[in-house]
Amino acid sequence: MPVLVASPYHQPLDPMEARAQKPYPPLGTLVTAEELRARGHEVVVYDPMFCRDVDTFAEALRGWRPSQVAIVADPHSVPVKMCLTSMREAARRMVSLAREAGAEVLVAGPDPTDHPEAYAGATVVHGEHDQAVIDWVEGRSPGAARRDLDLLPWPTLGDVDLGEYRRRWRQKHGLWELNLSTARGCPYRCNWCAKPTWGRSYNVLSPGRAAATVEWARSFAPDRLWFTDDIFAIKPAWLAEFRRLIEPRRIPFRCNTRADLVREGAYVDDLAASGCVEVWMGAESGSDRVLAAMDKDQTRDDIATATRRLHEAGIRVGFFLQLGYPGETYDDVHATLSMVRELRPDEIGVSVSYPLPGTGFYANVREQMGRENWASAMDNEVLFEASYPQGFYDSVRELLRAEHAWLTWRPSLGARRAATLPYHALRWPLHRGRVAVLGGRRG
Ligand code: SF4
Repeated sequence: MPVLVASPYHQPLDPMEARAQKPYPPLGTLVTAEELRARGHEVVVYDPMFCRDVDTFAEALRGWRPSQVAIVADPHSVPVKMCLTSMREAARRMVSLAREAGAEVLVAGPDPTDHPEAYAGATVVHGEHDQAVIDWVEGRSPGAARRDLDLLPWPTLGDVDLGEYRRRWRQKHGLWELNLSTARGCPYRCNWCAKPTWGRSYNVLSPGRAAATVEWARSFAPDRLWFTDDIFAIKPAWLAEFRRLIEPRRIPFRCNTRADLVREGAYVDDLAASGCVEVWMGAESGSDRVLAAMDKDQTRDDIATATRRLHEAGIRVGFFLQLGYPGETYDDVHATLSMVRELRPDEIGVSVSYPLPGTGFYANVREQMGRENWASAMDNEVLFEASYPQGFYDSVRELLRAEHAWLTWRPSLGARRAATLPYHALRWPLHRGRVAVLGGRRG
C-alpha cells in the first residue's frame, strides 16, 4: 500500500487568495514526496489546491487505500503561514478521514507546529518536516534536520494539475508565474514575524544549484518565476555568483528583499542582471519609531534609498505595509501615508498587524486576544487591543489604496486599473473623514 503525501491547502477556502488567483504548487509537499520515492517508497500525492471541500480527499483515500498519510503544508507558502482557521478545519477533517480509512497519519507545517493540540489522532511534526516524515514512514524516531539543501530532489510537478495552475494564472494575469525556492529561513529578528519551521536559521542553495533550478524550471516554460525565499539573496557575494551563472539565460523573476540590503553596493545591478523585474519589501511603516519597535533593523531612509535605486534599475517595487502595531500613533499612521505618497511604490499590500504564536509581538498582546487566528485573510481584523477602533484601520487601508491608485496610475496600466479610479475618488473623502474622526482629530 502506498504512502499518501497530501497538501492541506484548499484555495477556495481562502477567499483572498481565491480572488487573487495566484496559485503556486506546494513545493515543500512535493519535495517530501520525491524524497520518499528516492528511498524506494511507493508514493501518491494529493493536492487539493482547487478543491472546495475535503470530499475529494475521501475519494482519494478510497481509491489509493494508503497505509500512511502525511499531511504536509508547504512551509514556503505565505497563505499557509497565515494559519487560517478554515485551513486548520480542512486539515483536521483530512486527519479524521484518513484515520477512519485505517491509515496512520502525520501532520506537519506552521499550524501544527503552533497548535499541535488541534491535531488529535495524528503524529505532529514540530518545525522542519523533511527528515521527520522519512523517519516516520520508516518507523524511526525523528532524526536531525537536513542542512545541505543542494541534496534535495526537485519536486515532480506532474504530481499536481500543473495545467490548471497555468490556466488560472493566464486567465487572470495574462502570464504564468512558477514558484521556486533557493533558501530556507531568515536570520533577521522582526519581532512580529513567525518562523515556526526554520526559526532564525538560514540555509541556502549554492549559486550553482540555484542556477540549475532555474534551468529545470525553464522546461515547464513559465513566463516568470517567483522566489519564495523570505529574503532572496541575503548574501551579496551569492547574488553576484548567481548573476554570473544566470545572466545569459535569465528568466524574469520576482522576489522578496530588504531595504537595507538593496541600498548597498552592486546589489541592485546584480538583481537586475539576474532577471529581477519586481521586488517586494517589508516596508511596514513610514515611522522610524514603529520600525524600531518592530526590531525591523531598517529605517525610512533605507526604504527611500532602496526604492529609488530599484526604480532607477527598472525594477518594480512592492511595499508590504502594516497598520496597528502596538504603540502606533495617529502621526505614525500619517507617516506611512506620506511615505507612500512620496516614494510611490508600484504596488502595495496593506494589512493590520497579526500576532502569530511564537513571536515577541504575540507574547506581548496574548492576554488581550479573544481569538488567535483569522478564519480568512479577508478578515483583516485587529485581534488585540490596538490604539484605535477597527474602523479606523479599515479606513486608513482604503485611504492608502485610493491614494496609491491615483498617484501611480498611468495609461499603460490598462482599463482594469483605470476602472477602479472613480471608485477610489468617490470613497477617498469618506475615508479621510473617518480616519480623522476615529483617530480623535475631529468630531
Ligand atoms: S519580516 Fe522578513 S526580514 Fe523580518 S524576520 Fe521576517 S522574513 Fe526576515
